[in-house]
Amino acid sequence: MPRLRTLIAVAVLLAGVPGTAAATPGPNVPAVSEAARAAGFVDVRTVVPDAIIDLRYATANNFVGTQLYPANARCLVHESLAPGLATAAAALRSRSRLLVFWDCYRPHAVQVRMFEVAPNPNWVARPGPLARSHETGRSVDVTTADPYGHLADMGTDFDDFSPRATAFAEGIGARAAAERAALREAMKAGGLAIYPGEWWHFNGPGADVGRPILDVPVN
Ligand SMILES: [Zn+2]
Repeated sequence: MPRLRTLIAVAVLLAGVPGTAAATPGPNVPAVSEAARAAGFVDVRTVVPDAIIDLRYATANNFVGTQLYPANARCLVHESLAPGLATAAAALRSRSRLLVFWDCYRPHAVQVRMFEVAPNPNWVARPGPLARSHETGRSVDVTTADPYGHLADMGTDFDDFSPRATAFAEGIGARAAAERAALREAMKAGGLAIYPGEWWHFNGPGADVGRPILDVPVN
């Protein structure tokens, strides 16, 4: 049945394309690369099947202004974050909110490039001899959306390097403050801690521990 096989192949291919549509449930997510598997990474769609994957660094719509990841980049996270992200997503679902992922595992070379463009460690972690945070797949940049995929009003866009982007900024409006608080509560329920300097950045267990730099492709 070559035709059926072709259809299945196309479906699998489409499932691997990140976009703003709701993620395909787990069984249709292609296996991660051997290097990613060896690093203990999982594709977040196998953990949060209804996650919206909108990797901004796989587009030119980011603070660097150029595409830093391949177009077929995935949201890879260390497996230690998996149960917590599932818990957070469930908590948000009960409030009619979906989890949106803007960034997950970030290769070292991309971290270096970002720091060259924005050499302020308050906003971009300084690359060092050891990997931490996004470079180990233990931090995520997230926001929320309604069931139709409309992003919640959080008071600023992603990578808005202004005081309004700090997690507990004042003057962002009651609605944005409530949306941020709901996101923080859900993530906290899953053991993910807010980075006070950015409302979208959350650290999983061991995110601050220095580890050997990885050589894992992001796709
Ligand atoms: Zn981050």
